Amino acid sequence: MSFALFFSPLFLGCLVVASGWEKSIKLIHGWKTTFEARLQRATVRQGKFAKYISRPFWAGSRGIWNQTERIHRDDVRAAVRLAAAIYYFGFMILALVLFGYAALMIIIVIAMIVFSLWALGKYLGWDSPNGDSSSSPLYPVTSSRVEGLTGTRIEHYDEQRRKIGESLEREGILENYIEHIDRDGQKVGESHTREGMLEDYIERTDSDGKKIGETREREGLLDDYSEHTDKHGNKIGESRIREGLLDTYIEHDFSNARRFCTSCGARLAAGATFCTSCGQRCR
Ligand SMILES: [Zn+2]
Repeated sequence: MSFALFFSPLFLGCLVVASGWEKSIKLIHGWKTTFEARLQRATVRQGKFAKYISRPFWAGSRGIWNQTERIHRDDVRAAVRLAAAIYYFGFMILALVLFGYAALMIIIVIAMIVFSLWALGKYLGWDSPNGDSSSSPLYPVTSSRVEGLTGTRIEHYDEQRRKIGESLEREGILENYIEHIDRDGQKVGESHTREGMLEDYIERTDSDGKKIGETREREGLLDDYSEHTDKHGNKIGESRIREGLLDTYIEHDFSNARRFCTSCGARLAAGATFCTSCGQRCR
């Protein structure tokens, strides 16, 4: 059985030669365009998955087509390509599954360590429930890039287009980061680019440097957008680049933020005035 399975790609290849079906031969040769497009996409992408998995995978696929270029007979070339691609894809999928399994095990172990630390913290009373309840975050509705005397900054506005704050790029010791200030010029937080397991992301901190959430680039059905999560991993909003009449601006949707307690992350009931999990007052 496994013997037959192992040789089936070769059999398929022979079938292509035997049939001499013009359409399927053309189709197989045409896959090179697909591989090239995928490779191009993976090359411009940041992140670990694109860098270590997608890129070498599509480069290898294209490599098979390049290596077989000198086989003169059209049908034989298609047959060899098809058989080689099936072996290659099969091998890569197997490798990916094994790699994914190992990565999953590592994630589970890390999650268990984090959880036990969190449980220990709760037990020792590290995080008091009313620690950061005073500062309820103010979310912008739109943001625009503004060219100033000192450089470029992003201004944030509420629904009446009143300025509620701005973000500026700062030079750090190791890397540049974004500093967020409110309308009075007080620093309210920072954003730093971090390298994740699969992709880079932005870590958002408050004025004390405590992590308040993450932001990731996402591919939507219609457009790309940024997804914001709070420190508990709840999705609280999305941001999209929009073309306005006069300029390009960023549109934010933080309507989801009101559904979660900023202190403990529990889901809030509609119109709730306090969190039933930790007792914090809601906005
Ligand atoms: Zn709560």
